[in-house]
Amino acid sequence: MSSDCKALQEKIIKLKKERKALILAHNYQIIEIQEIADYVGDSLQLARKSAESRGYDMIIFAGVRFMAEMAAVLSPTVPVYIPDPGALCPLAAYIDAESVRKKKEEYPDTPVVVYVNTTADTKTETDVICTSGSAVEVVESLGADTVLFGPDANLAEYVRRHTDVNIIDIDSRGRCYVHNMFDLSMLLELKEKYPDAVAIAHPECPIEVQEAADMVGSTGMMAKTVAESDAKMFIIATEMGMVHQLQKQHPDKTIIPLYEGAICRQMKKHTLEKILDVLENLPEANLVKVPEYSAPHIRGVLERMNKVKGQGPAKAVSAES
Ligand code: SF4
Repeated sequence: MSSDCKALQEKIIKLKKERKALILAHNYQIIEIQEIADYVGDSLQLARKSAESRGYDMIIFAGVRFMAEMAAVLSPTVPVYIPDPGALCPLAAYIDAESVRKKKEEYPDTPVVVYVNTTADTKTETDVICTSGSAVEVVESLGADTVLFGPDANLAEYVRRHTDVNIIDIDSRGRCYVHNMFDLSMLLELKEKYPDAVAIAHPECPIEVQEAADMVGSTGMMAKTVAESDAKMFIIATEMGMVHQLQKQHPDKTIIPLYEGAICRQMKKHTLEKILDVLENLPEANLVKVPEYSAPHIRGVLERMNKVKGQGPAKAVSAES
């Protein structure tokens, strides 16, 4: 790490104490940001942390915008700032409130489940939200024959294969471009090269990658599995920030990325300089606002998801197999 970077980190740490700022960073952030964060996790873990922000005067959320919006909903009295307001998730952009409304007209009386990777506006049109780990159980909890689902068609396909429910994509083109970089041949090659490695794929990966992996789950589940498993080697099919973090936390284990080019450009828009700017200047443009009408609905659909049993991995086998 350069001395400039270290100096910047020290400045941020000092100022965040003075400002009583809580810094939350997603697993895909660069290590330098993860190091100055109070908490690092997946989108749901960070949303839950933001709900525990009593005693802080501000939250700085280093993740994409829909995540910061969730924090703003769950922490209505503490202002939430995003270091780069242009950090938007392209997967979330595949559907919006209008496209959900249109789909509901096409399929009246059909419940709508959306993945947490959606804007606040889109969530306002849904019956319940889900995470990658809870999607199957959330869909089944509705007791419906047919469910409208979006925006991730890869996750939708996973749910389709693991339930008897008819899953209709709100937009069948919806994909995370980062996880869609992975393909089956990459995984088979690494599995052949490292036969003892446990392969863990994120549910946003193409379905054939998920099916060839030993486990499927969110970044939070990956962190837990690597920490608790006796296995010494893991093939990780998700964004590189997570790979770096796992390797740093577990120097005794070998973390192999499925593809080193899997980098989310939107997550990487945040920098230490931008975090410092928020702390120094509290720019209005970086303040995350959620329409007042949508916040109670979002809290309701989140609560509905939380009531559904099980937030674990979508598919799991023992580390020995
Ligand atoms: S990794 Fe994919 S889903 Fe996550 S923020 Fe980037 S584009 Fe969106």
